[in-house]
Amino acid sequence: MNKKPRFIMCICTGQCPGFKSLDLWELINTVRQEMDVEYAIVHPQLCVDDGDRFIKDYIRNDGKYIIGACAPVMQRKMMKDAFTEAGGDFEKQVVPLDLRNLTTEQALAKVREALEIIK
Ligand code: SF4
Repeated sequence: MNKKPRFIMCICTGQCPGFKSLDLWELINTVRQEMDVEYAIVHPQLCVDDGDRFIKDYIRNDGKYIIGACAPVMQRKMMKDAFTEAGGDFEKQVVPLDLRNLTTEQALAKVREALEIIK
């Protein structure tokens, strides 16, 4: 089944100063309404135990995911095991984006670029 990429925004509990210049709801609504994605969702904290459980419940091994969060190297380190345990492959399925310290417009531009890459 060839679905469009899903966009997941990890907002780091909502307390992280790295996301203070981002309007979360403008970002997520623009992505889901204006971009070529299957859908867009927000998760509060993907890199802790319940985030792992969410990944294991949620990911499909034929799916592509754009994850807006912290540094790609950190995302890879913190999420790859959960993908593997779910039968997936972080390297093949995910375009990890660092959306910290960006304005909403800058973050949206990065998501647009990622959608071009993942096509
Ligand atoms: S994955 Fe990154 S952005 Fe998300 S909660 Fe963990 S440290 Fe924060």
